[in-house]
Amino acid sequence: MKVWQEVYIGLGSNLSDPKMQVLKALDSLKDLPNTQWVSHSSLYSSRPQGPQDQPDFVNAVALLKTQLSPIELLDRLQAFETSQGKVKKRHWGERLIDLDILLYGHETLHTERLIIPHPFMIERDFVLLPMAEISPDLILPNHSRIKDLISELPEGFIMTDRKVEKS
Ligand code: AMP
Repeated sequence: MKVWQEVYIGLGSNLSDPKMQVLKALDSLKDLPNTQWVSHSSLYSSRPQGPQDQPDFVNAVALLKTQLSPIELLDRLQAFETSQGKVKKRHWGERLIDLDILLYGHETLHTERLIIPHPFMIERDFVLLPMAEISPDLILPNHSRIKDLISELPEGFIMTDRKVEKS
């Protein structure tokens, strides 16, 4: 029998009503086969990490339990992105919807298509804070505690004065 893995998915959007795009993608995640919905964070507003001449982002993190393999999950997420209308423009640029696999159980993976844990998650408050909201005592595969990673962040992107209302 296949094992159930706890998976954290990062969501982000800064185009075409970003809040609506993130909520729509959260709904799509509920339709994944062989997967149980666990929870999701609040929605956060954040300033862009890459080029600054683009709109602010709405970010969130979802926690699921899945029997899909990492690559099966990536295929499904990319299909959701495409059907929602994602077109890649520029590196770290604007995007209609972005779905990243942040953690897949305690597994580490480094293939051409998939790096897990997600390579940039530990430098992004808009990933770590929503994750900590769901799982405050989370420990990463490299044994780092999420609380320690948050306290060591060199800079922040979340705009606390512009919290998106909790859905
Ligand atoms: P981006 O559109 O900037 O999010 O980049 C998408 C690309 O990142 C895809 O081609 C994926 O194959 C690759 N990728 C590598 N690791 C991951 C991950 N953990 N989650 C999602 N995509 C990933």
